[in-house]
Amino acid sequence: MTIYCPGCGSEAFKRTYEERSISVPFGPKVEYLAANCVCSVCMLDGDFYQENDSKITEAEAKSRQAAYEALVQNLSLRNYAPPYIERVLRIPQGSIKRWKHGCSPEAAALLMLVCMVPNVLEDLDLRGVSVTGTEKCT
Ligand SMILES: [Zn+2]
Repeated sequence: MTIYCPGCGSEAFKRTYEERSISVPFGPKVEYLAANCVCSVCMLDGDFYQENDSKITEAEAKSRQAAYEALVQNLSLRNYAPPYIERVLRIPQGSIKRWKHGCSPEAAALLMLVCMVPNVLEDLDLRGVSVTGTEKCT
């Protein structure tokens, strides 16, 4: 499949690669090889082959998975065991353990928030059994 410059339709462009990295909060930087094309006719540059998005998604997932490990370990060291967190947040038991095999962005965000503000767990735990559906969020 021939790729053309999206700006002028020319086939005269050069593709180069450079190392870039991406990370999520609490995760390590993960490097990926980013492509960049520069058209020699109109000088437009960009990812003409649209190959960078999948590399970024993959690198971000690796960083997020490492962040998951760090967050769960950090919480465990502070005596917030996964079963307690799951019970208080009312998510299915075993969820946090399952995330070891693929931590979604939503799951990682939840762990980040709990790790940054762990006293929210105690607050929710205190409210736990008395929630009636009419309780206001304060
Ligand atoms: Zn062009």
